[in-house]
Amino acid sequence: MNTTTEQVTCLGCRRPLRSAASIARGRGPVCDRRARQSAVDLRDFTPAQVDAARELIEDAAIVPLRGRVFRTVSTDGRELHLTHPATCNCAAGLKARRCYHIAAARLLLAA
Ligand SMILES: [Zn+2]
Ligand SMILES: [Zn+2]
Repeated sequence: MNTTTEQVTCLGCRRPLRSAASIARGRGPVCDRRARQSAVDLRDFTPAQVDAARELIEDAAIVPLRGRVFRTVSTDGRELHLTHPATCNCAAGLKARRCYHIAAARLLLAA
């Protein structure tokens, strides 16, 4: 090894980190968010539900309302649900308490 730079690289993606905050965390903002989200307990959810949850967040179809309650929009955009990290008033949420809205709420609260 004859590297002359003291470059700190991201623990997630190995890209060089520049900002002091990123260096302190050891991760860039994207990888930091991902690391915190992967610490969320999503074992109750299928990978498809987790994917749908991430999509919901990317589409901004989940909006914080108050406290830990979120308003979520159904896939067709026609229905609104109230979602909490432990419960949701959509059909799947009422039945099994395991809808992707709940997964999204947990991810958002961790981020
Ligand atoms: Zn990274
Ligand atoms: Zn739901």
